[in-house]
Amino acid sequence: MKPIRNILTVLLLTLLTLGATQVCAEEIVVYSARNEQLIKPLFDAYTKETGTKITFITDKAGPLLQRLKAEGKNTRADLLITVDAGNLWHAAREGVLQPVDSNILQENIPAHLRDPGNQWFGLSLRSRTIVYSTERVKPEELSTYEALGEPQWKDRLLLRTSKKVYNQSLIAMLIAEHGEVEAEKIVRSWVNNLAAKPFSNDTKVMEGILAGQGDVGIVNTYYFGRLLKKNPDLKLALYWPNQNSTGVHVNVSGAGVTRYAKNAQAAIKLLEWLSSEKAQNLFADANMEYPVNKSVKTHPYVAAWGEFKASEQNLANAGMLQNQAIQLMDRADYR
Ligand code: FE
Repeated sequence: MKPIRNILTVLLLTLLTLGATQVCAEEIVVYSARNEQLIKPLFDAYTKETGTKITFITDKAGPLLQRLKAEGKNTRADLLITVDAGNLWHAAREGVLQPVDSNILQENIPAHLRDPGNQWFGLSLRSRTIVYSTERVKPEELSTYEALGEPQWKDRLLLRTSKKVYNQSLIAMLIAEHGEVEAEKIVRSWVNNLAAKPFSNDTKVMEGILAGQGDVGIVNTYYFGRLLKKNPDLKLALYWPNQNSTGVHVNVSGAGVTRYAKNAQAAIKLLEWLSSEKAQNLFADANMEYPVNKSVKTHPYVAAWGEFKASEQNLANAGMLQNQAIQLMDRADYR
């Protein structure tokens, strides 16, 4: 009697373990700094296609990183999605991500839009470019980011606060291109041309131009897209600077598999799917961004803003030079 009971117990335990493994493998937990409305349709599509359940929480990039660090090995998160290479780089630096060796990711995502150490991968591209008043500026008057510091733009330039990671990344890239001394001169010349104190967000920069507070500014393309959707007669246009030199500054939203992922393999599969032709339009179009996968076409609404040469500097620079950029902006009185 006893041996049979033992055998039954072992059998039961084996079945339970198998069952539990299977349930785990079919569920991925995602921490996302990208809004629910942008990621939920993607996750729903993935679940429909693969049966894999995705649970997610959304928060700002900073708190999510803190949470991952605090949770350490006990975290439930398998994948971190966040915006800006500066933030992705930080997450890797803080040790909450792990390297992923995937031919699919290497093929789908250009090298400069992912971590050389394979810990994070860009999934959608946004450019941070010049926006101008179509009533008071002719595009021929514009040329480069650097030239926004020239005397003709005195009291005509509007910028967003230097505290935003987007601007820290932009200045980090300027440092990589020009060296610190020259980059500081450029930032000082911008500050000297400011028509108003830096604004809290990109939309306010554009509203400032519309209100006549200034004539030119620097914004992320999708904020322009949102405003244009609300007002098709917007008296603003985008300009693609540095076309004869370094190219337009671009950045990404992206993701990495967490260091202590319980379902790393499943998370890698999701990441690969997000970079695939099938998912790239869903990912990029939801926020009026550009796909990172070169074989995927940009949404016509976004493509209508014009083609441009983008910088091919590796985005890891945005992270590596971030502290230098913050200190430089402080010295240059860019607040
Ligand atoms: Fe944004």
